[in-house]
Amino acid sequence: MKLFISIDMEGISGIIDVTYCDPDQGINYDRGRQFMTADANAAIEGALEAGVTDILVADSHDNMRNVLIENLHPQAKLLSGTSRDYSMMHGLDSSYDAAIFLGYHSRHGAPGVLSHTMSGVIKNLYVNGQVVGEFGFNAIYAGLLGVPVVMVSGDDQIAEEAKSLIPGISTAIVKTAASRTAAICLPLSAAQAEIKSKTIEALARIKEIQPLTTETPLELKIEFSHAGQAEMAALIPGSEYKLGTTEVSVVCQDQHEMYKVMRAMLNLAGVAKFW
Ligand SMILES: [Zn+2]
Repeated sequence: MKLFISIDMEGISGIIDVTYCDPDQGINYDRGRQFMTADANAAIEGALEAGVTDILVADSHDNMRNVLIENLHPQAKLLSGTSRDYSMMHGLDSSYDAAIFLGYHSRHGAPGVLSHTMSGVIKNLYVNGQVVGEFGFNAIYAGLLGVPVVMVSGDDQIAEEAKSLIPGISTAIVKTAASRTAAICLPLSAAQAEIKSKTIEALARIKEIQPLTTETPLELKIEFSHAGQAEMAALIPGSEYKLGTTEVSVVCQDQHEMYKVMRAMLNLAGVAKFW
């Protein structure tokens, strides 16, 4: 059995604000990396007990070199560093039996610890008219490769967001959000035990979770924070900027094109300054 793990940082056990997640200025960043690696190891241990033989961990936060390889379980491989065509989902293909998302967070505008969608430029992200966060966008990508997302870890808010899209998904809730930058956290040992046991549970129920099905071609629509960002994103050939809004949409043939176009739009929009 082959397992793909995409691991973000905002939903990691014990992490409550950006001081743990910012590689450049986070005073708790070194601790955050240790917590992230320990959450990965908990899931890997569970996966091995469940019979998984092949594990790829895709570091999926910021510069994507957060997980400490020297402390990572020796039976998993690590995809580390940028740039990657498919960002948080790079390395996944249809040979995988399942995917799990660790340390994920709720979408922009929703309650939950460090809620956002991809970067600060996106207000709302839509696929075929449905608003999605990183969880939904990545689950759609996996689903179109025929791979089910069977487990998510993070706070109570991402657990709800995930269940609304994939009702039978296993959820390891390691903290309860009190605000966007505060949470009641399980002790790390208890959080990691929860991740391990929910990984075992999810992989035992793998046949119950179907890959998400989404109609193609895919309409990708991004609502940006301001018009300057939308104008830059609309440089993408084939895109449509709806005047009077900050929304740019584009029709993509498949999940690969969708991921690349989303990344290209974010990078273009990222250079548009507000002041
Ligand atoms: Zn992140």
